[in-house]
Amino acid sequence: MLLILLVACTAPPSGTKPLKTEHVVIVVIDGVRWSETWGATPGLIPNMSANLIQKGHFLPKFYNYGYTYTNSGHTAITTGVNQPIDNYGDELPANPSIFQYFLKQTGKPATAAWIVSSKDKLHILANTQRPDWKDEFLPSVNAGVNGPGTGYRMDSLTLVEAKRILTTHKPNLMLINFMEPDGFAHAGNWENYLRGIARDDRYVMELWDFLSTDEAFKKKTTLLVTTDHGRHLDGIDGGWAEHGDNCPGCQQVFLLALGPDFGRGEVVAEYSLIDLPLTVARLLKIEMDSLVVVPRIDTTVVALAPDTTLAASQQDSVQVLPPQDSIRLEIKMDTTVLKGRVIKELFK
Ligand SMILES: [Zn+2]
Ligand SMILES: [Zn+2]
Repeated sequence: MLLILLVACTAPPSGTKPLKTEHVVIVVIDGVRWSETWGATPGLIPNMSANLIQKGHFLPKFYNYGYTYTNSGHTAITTGVNQPIDNYGDELPANPSIFQYFLKQTGKPATAAWIVSSKDKLHILANTQRPDWKDEFLPSVNAGVNGPGTGYRMDSLTLVEAKRILTTHKPNLMLINFMEPDGFAHAGNWENYLRGIARDDRYVMELWDFLSTDEAFKKKTTLLVTTDHGRHLDGIDGGWAEHGDNCPGCQQVFLLALGPDFGRGEVVAEYSLIDLPLTVARLLKIEMDSLVVVPRIDTTVVALAPDTTLAASQQDSVQVLPPQDSIRLEIKMDTTVLKGRVIKELFK
């Protein structure tokens, strides 16, 4: 008999202490490479590498094993699935996100879950293509200069917006995207790429100072800091300015995790971005469906009949024309099981 698990196991093992976390904030510092961050500490990230690291766990063996682009990396973080997705358009993730699961299972209003993003295009994280979830239980979005299609906004302004929303709505779940390192790297501006890293390190510190002193959040808020992808190693396809393949520079990310339910110190076990939503689900006591869909690009080679007119005119010289092959690309939806795991080493 085939047993199908419908719900991914996110519940804590029996006998463990009740969790104190009521709020989770995920910060994604877009597109920072190991060599300019955790590979050269304190360097540009003194707040995270010398201060915050002492208050929580750090995972150096943390990776993006999927598609190392912004929209795919963020989709892995919010849905637990590595999938190809248009990095510049309005294509929605194939599966519902932790925001939707949270709002559905708690019955809370849209203001309880937020996407606050410097990149306007990350509004796609709020919704899904999956018919049974599309346009349902949508979180609130504050993205870009003034919403989708209005361009990227500076990270200092995103921090201001995040703090304003935290103060006003006291959400239980928020994802913040900071874009300056990635944005300036693509522009080939090394100085501002580095400046972006240093600024975002300060903004993470400011955010933690706020979360650990504000009455609504202190002692009941978990902060997860990561990146959606790294950047090419030097010498690979444009080096630091670009990203998007499976070179070690693109795949290497990191996780810094602080909160009332977490211990301290380095976690040596290996995890990846798709493990984040299951970990958030455990913290917020929600469940995720274990069955998910994964879009796959299917390449079908179709043999077409030879051009008969051409064949007839060249009858003497060419007896048989090779069939003209045509490649047809189709997006197939595979149903599979959620592969992410709760990062259990984080919990005390
Ligand atoms: Zn990028
Ligand atoms: Zn690369």
